[in-house]
Amino acid sequence: MSALVDALLSSGRTGGVISLLIAAGLFGFTAFDYVANNGFFIVVPAIGLVFVIIGGLLLVHGNPQSGEFRQAQAVPLDPDFQDRLRNMERPYFVCTRCRSLPDQQFCDACGGNIDVLEIRDDEDLRLALASMGQT
Ligand SMILES: [Zn+2]
Repeated sequence: MSALVDALLSSGRTGGVISLLIAAGLFGFTAFDYVANNGFFIVVPAIGLVFVIIGGLLLVHGNPQSGEFRQAQAVPLDPDFQDRLRNMERPYFVCTRCRSLPDQQFCDACGGNIDVLEIRDDEDLRLALASMGQT
């Protein structure tokens, strides 16, 4: 099941919709089973609830552009890393997605360049910190 959850998480809002559909199916099955067989599988609605939570999170935080689950942005920026950014010799590059310091406008760590910002002055730094969830 974790492979399925990973696949859903990596597909952003689409994954969220699919999660909610899976949850609806599981609740439907439970209701049907209860009526038809007078059975009650507590495990099935519990799994359904997990998919509701995953679906809800994806719908709120899912990023349709990159298909990434943007949980990283909720994590506060490490103060040591912030100090390092403030005191580093400019210009330099910072990847706001994985918070690494590539030496070019391309991040080897996450394989992208959309989130790599060149820091030349305080305004660049302010933007970079803001996009990493700091003000
Ligand atoms: Zn990166």
